[in-house]
Amino acid sequence: MWALQGARLASGDLVDIVVEGELIHDTAAGSAAAVSDRIDCAGKLVLPAFIDSHVHLDKALIRDDLREHDGTLAGAIGAIHERKRRYSVEDVRSRARAVIEESVRLGTTRLRSHVDVDTIGGLTPLEGVMAAAADCSDIAEVRTVAFPQEGLLRDPGALDLMEAALEMGADVVGGMPHWEPNEAAQREHVRLCFELAQRFDRDVDMHVDETDDGNVRTLEMVADEALRLNFTGRVCAGHVCSLAAADHEYAERVIDKCLRAGISIAANPVTNLVLQGRGDRGLVRRGMTRVAELRAAGVNVLFGQDCVKDGFYPFGRGSMLEVALISAHAAHLTSKDDLAYALEAVTKAPAISWRLEDYGLRRGARADLQLLPVPSWEEALRLQPPPEKVWFGGRLVAENSVSSVVHRARPTP
Ligand SMILES: [Zn+2]
Repeated sequence: MWALQGARLASGDLVDIVVEGELIHDTAAGSAAAVSDRIDCAGKLVLPAFIDSHVHLDKALIRDDLREHDGTLAGAIGAIHERKRRYSVEDVRSRARAVIEESVRLGTTRLRSHVDVDTIGGLTPLEGVMAAAADCSDIAEVRTVAFPQEGLLRDPGALDLMEAALEMGADVVGGMPHWEPNEAAQREHVRLCFELAQRFDRDVDMHVDETDDGNVRTLEMVADEALRLNFTGRVCAGHVCSLAAADHEYAERVIDKCLRAGISIAANPVTNLVLQGRGDRGLVRRGMTRVAELRAAGVNVLFGQDCVKDGFYPFGRGSMLEVALISAHAAHLTSKDDLAYALEAVTKAPAISWRLEDYGLRRGARADLQLLPVPSWEEALRLQPPPEKVWFGGRLVAENSVSSVVHRARPTP
C-alpha cells in the first residue's frame, strides 16, 4: 500500500489518494496518514491518466516515407496506399510501440487504435498493433478497432478480412460508411458493420461523415441502426464533420437520435482543423462537428489524437494535454466550465464510451494516475508540462523532469 499525500484534484479539492495493489483504496483527505510509503504532492495536480480513444497506431510515423499530396482526406488515403503495401508486422509493431510509449510518458494509459483492415494491407496492420499492445501491456491498455479504411463495398474482400480480424481478437467493429460511392452502399456498409458487431458481440466505433459536404448524412443511418438493434451506449461516431455543414433541422433531429441511442461522438479537431475546408476561400470552414450543440443536448463528446505524423497530419505526439488545448481553441472553450469540459473529453467521456467501470479518481477504480507540476487543470492546459509521474494499475510507469534556468547579468530589483 502507498499513498499520494496532498494531491490537488481538478475540482480544487485537496485529498490523499491511497493505492492498494492495482486499485485506488481511498481518496479522503488525511487518509495517507496511516500509510508509511507516501509521496508528498505539495498541492500539485493529480488527474486520472488520460484515455486516447481515437488514434491510428498502424499509420503513425510514416509521413517521411510518403509522397506529397493535396492535403485532403482523399489525397492522404491515396498517398498511404504505396506505403501500406510495404508494411510488415515488425514495421507496424515498432512504430505503434513508439507511440504507445510516448503516450504513456505523457500521461495516457489507455488507447483505442483504429487499424486498417483492407485488401491492400490485409491483416498485417492488425497483427503489428496487437503485437505492440502485447509488448506494452505492462504500461498501458491498448484496444483495437477493425477499420475498413478502403470501404466494404468499394473494396471487395474487405468484409471477409473484417471477419478474420474479429476472429483474431480485434476489440471493436469499425467502419467508414461515407467512403462508399452512393447512399445505398453507405446504408449497406452500416448494416454490415452492425451485423458483424452483433455476431461477434462487439461495440461499434465508426468514422462517420469526415467531409464538409452537408449532404453526406451517414450519422443518421448509424443512429437509426443503433436504435433499431438496441445497441444503446455501444456506439461511437468519429469526426462527424459534415454535421456542421448540414441544415439545422437535420442536425437537431440526428443529435436527438444520438442522445437516445447513447452514441458517443469522437470529435477529432486536431486533425480535422487541417484536413477539412481545403477548398474554401475567404471564410474557411474548420472541419469541426457541432460540439457546443452536442454538449448542450447531453451527448457524450470525446476528443482524440487521431493522427501522429501520418499522411493526414504532420504533427501529433501522443499528448492528450495538447489535444485538449487545440480542441479548446477549435471548440471555443475558454470559461472555467468549458475547460473542465475539455478535461472530461480526454478522461471521463472516453471512459463512458468504453463502458469502463474501473475509471476515475475514486475508491475501487484502477490506479491509473498522473502527477503534474502545476496547481490546477487550467495551468496544466496553459503550460503543457509533461507529468512528473505516471502510474498504470498502481505501478509507476513513467517519470519526467524538466529543468530550465534564465541567466541574468545582474540581480533583479
Ligand atoms: Zn480517424
